[in-house]
Amino acid sequence: MNYAKSILFTIFLSLVFIIRANAAIIQLPEHFKITNSPFLDKITSIQDLECKVFLSKQNEIIPVDGTIFKMNGQELIKTKEKLYLLISQTGVIYQLEDKVDSSYTFRRIDNTININYNIASNNFVWDKHIYSYGGYGFWKLNGHLRSFNFLDKEWDIVPANNEIISNGHNWFSKNEGRVYVPFQAIVNAGIVGPESIKGTKNYDSYYLDIASKKWIKLGSMHASTKKLVEEASVKAWDEVNCLECANCCKAMTPTFTKKDLKRIAAFLGMTETEMYNKWLKTDEDNGDIVNQKQPCQFLDKKTNFCSIYEVRPDDCATFPHFKRKPFNDFNHIHEQNIQYCPATLKMVNHLKDTIDAGFDW
Ligand code: SF4
Ligand code: SF4
Repeated sequence: MNYAKSILFTIFLSLVFIIRANAAIIQLPEHFKITNSPFLDKITSIQDLECKVFLSKQNEIIPVDGTIFKMNGQELIKTKEKLYLLISQTGVIYQLEDKVDSSYTFRRIDNTININYNIASNNFVWDKHIYSYGGYGFWKLNGHLRSFNFLDKEWDIVPANNEIISNGHNWFSKNEGRVYVPFQAIVNAGIVGPESIKGTKNYDSYYLDIASKKWIKLGSMHASTKKLVEEASVKAWDEVNCLECANCCKAMTPTFTKKDLKRIAAFLGMTETEMYNKWLKTDEDNGDIVNQKQPCQFLDKKTNFCSIYEVRPDDCATFPHFKRKPFNDFNHIHEQNIQYCPATLKMVNHLKDTIDAGFDW
């Protein structure tokens, strides 16, 4: 009986999922027009430019308000001849159809039914094909290369000699027609336990030669390479004094966990609700509890000291997260922090200098 109930429940969930996915697709426009976009004016005026740009939330182009794609990112891919807009992790693609003065008409060119198997996939154009490599979905990472089929307007898996799974850190080299995967997190077991969710690390490096559709092994990462981050962060901390900076407290907000709230409220002699109402809010985009304002209310602006240092949020205590492991799982965080945190910038520069000096590419 329980087994039958589980099957019925699974069917019910699948139906809800399919209906939601289709409803969302229906809401996306087949065509849309953009006028007065200095960004598009600029990018289309550079004839030879070939690039990929992740659009910030304020600069998104595809009208997704009212659809479930409101929270998805948007990517722009420009080749010499074409301009494409993609909704990240969906397979939805628009192509620039017409440009009259500063008026741009985009047309949707895919028939994709979004099933969210390609979260954080790497999308790119090579030799007039649109490709998408890897991604995450259904509690699994995948190492497939997919190619957009302009005839049936769907994505085809490109057969290859192997399936190499990236942990999210991979890049496409246009000149060589290769996708590089320096290390992997091999997970393909569904939800069994934390280890299978995070993945087993593998430090073998591969590239996919797109023309021959072959994954070629480059070698394995040497143990000393893993120490590079540690050495670069020691050098960075020798050169930066946080008390002369405090930029993270002035320009960013920490995320407060429930434990942080409890600990800090007790320290301040307040209830958690009082503390939340006075200084905090819930980020609409991701549900995180964050500061209402910057600079942080706990920062002494004259001395740059934190007035709740002993009980500060874990996010502050571990910032800028150099020690979180594996380092490369936090690449997106380091990338984002570079613009605020001098220590991160110095650490990345030291890392780059060491790599440039010691490795032949
Ligand atoms: S709690 Fe302290 S360390 Fe954290 S942002 Fe505020 S002032 Fe800075
Ligand atoms: S932004 Fe970086 S360098 Fe500046 S105080 Fe924060 S952790 Fe230190």
